[in-house]
Amino acid sequence: SARLARAESLIALTPDFPQPGILFRDIGPMLTDADALAAVTQALAAPFEGGFDLVAGVEARGFLLAGTVAATTRTGLLPIRKAGKTPRPSASVDYALEYGIATIEAAGDLTGRRVLLVDDVLATGGTLRAAVSLVEQLGGTVAGVAVVLELTELGGRAAVPSTHAVFAT
Ligand code: IMP
Repeated sequence: SARLARAESLIALTPDFPQPGILFRDIGPMLTDADALAAVTQALAAPFEGGFDLVAGVEARGFLLAGTVAATTRTGLLPIRKAGKTPRPSASVDYALEYGIATIEAAGDLTGRRVLLVDDVLATGGTLRAAVSLVEQLGGTVAGVAVVLELTELGGRAAVPSTHAVFAT
């Protein structure tokens, strides 16, 4: 749609961030635009509408989109945090980064919950694959995975095969 095409045009390309040689996709300008945010929020959830009752996003940009999707679909919100921020985590998953490892954590019992996972960018897929594992460890069922932008050339889809991408490179 024209609304989505306009939203896509508001994703800024930032060369050499956070390191030389990296072309960073910045959703900042898309978030500050009312119509773009509404259109992208709707497009993230549309394929899964009625099939989930909780939306989870990984700190930090995933929080923002999980929040808008949860509010507009009248579902619950689960913030998945980086290591050390959750007082009594019920589950914890380590995953590989380009250099070193990272850990995500969450608390609570997701038995019987159908969870939509959202993030801004699918790069290598390591973060979303870890989030799938975390939701399952908490007893939840992953109803879907949705991202604003898939960086196709990085092949992250192999890690989270059924991901719905609103935009792809
Ligand atoms: P992964 O490689 O798919 O695990 O991505 C790691 C994290 O970095 C995810 O939360 C992505 O949202 C984020 N990320 C990777 N590349 C970009 C980018 O170009 N722009 C914004 N976020 C990115």
